[in-house]
Amino acid sequence: MKSAARNIVIGSGITGVSCARALMQIGETVIVLDKGRGIGGRMATRRVALETGDISFDHGAQVLPARNNAFATLMRDAGAAAWDQGGGLVGMPGMSQIPRRLAEGLDLRQGIEITALAYHDGQWMLSSPGGAFRAQRLILTIPAPQALQLLGPMHPLATALRAVEMRPCLTLMAAFPPDSQRPFSQRSDPDHPLAWIAQDSSKPGRSTAAVTWVAQAGPEFSAQNLENSPEDIAAQMLPLLCDAIGANPQTALHLRAHRWRYAQTLRPLGAAYLSDGATNLFLGGDWCLGARAEHAWQSGAAIAAAIAGSTDAR
Ligand SMILES: Cc1cc2nc3c(=O)[nH]c(=O)nc-3n(C[C@H](O)[C@H](O)[C@H](O)COP(=O)(O)OP(=O)(O)OC[C@H]3O[C@@H](n4cnc5c(N)ncnc54)[C@H](O)[C@@H]3O)c2cc1C
Repeated sequence: MKSAARNIVIGSGITGVSCARALMQIGETVIVLDKGRGIGGRMATRRVALETGDISFDHGAQVLPARNNAFATLMRDAGAAAWDQGGGLVGMPGMSQIPRRLAEGLDLRQGIEITALAYHDGQWMLSSPGGAFRAQRLILTIPAPQALQLLGPMHPLATALRAVEMRPCLTLMAAFPPDSQRPFSQRSDPDHPLAWIAQDSSKPGRSTAAVTWVAQAGPEFSAQNLENSPEDIAAQMLPLLCDAIGANPQTALHLRAHRWRYAQTLRPLGAAYLSDGATNLFLGGDWCLGARAEHAWQSGAAIAAAIAGSTDAR
């Protein structure tokens, strides 16, 4: 069965949401498709039910700069609050709440992985295991290496996509009893295998049912252990975390590792988006301008502005 729209955005991360919102505001019809179960991509929060109560972990983006600019204002409007010890803004009660709020009113369809694309007679045909979609304009807001896989090595934009470099990040989520030690709220040490450690439960509005920690491995550790099973990754990272926070590994109430294959941009494109006018195709993401959520938002907004400015959109 086919669903059709004038615009299809692949990806409900902050880039896709930014773009789809702005397109809707100029009266365009948009469907947003995402393979994930939740909205927000790498602005992610995982919820866990413990016997002592529900807890959550921000296992992707940690903290957003609280600069006095349009992005920070938008984040505050979407419910973000200051995390003073972390030096920035966080979503409430979790990071994923920000993209969820911003996506309100969008035609967003989760659990749909686009596995093939084809362009015929002015139409994009999108295939997924659950069905097919048609659109006049396609906006891909997925990490550059994944976009390259979908478009194929012979696509006119392949060279530009190949020049973008993204690196992985292994993340550990661990919970300890509420009375356990809390030596710091966050620690950044690029020379340590755990380059960033955050006491997630020290963020505003979080559950008090446990002391929760999120540890992100540095680039070397992440690259070396990327293909290990999540269980092995958790077993390797837990002693490192416990050393850093002075906890007994035996007391962990919950433990889980997450593998971000395309976590952070190392070498960005250097432009806000890519496009192919002949096929009405746009590509965007944080990887266009940098490595942060703010760059993702800018990229999505720039695509929508380009579409709004084109004769075709009027
Ligand atoms: C561990 C980690 C820590 C970070 N820390 C920070 C931080 O502290 N501050 C900060 O500003 N930024 C941080 N970032 C970066 C920030 O999360 C990203 O810049 C931003 O979320 C990227 O948004 P995006 O929309 O470009 O991509 P994504 O969020 O990756 O969204 C892409 C979406 O596309 C979907 N998708 C992919 N392929 C397909 C397909 N074939 N079919 C359908 N859907 C598909 C995915 O499911 C995903 O939802 C961090 C990232 C990570 C991983």
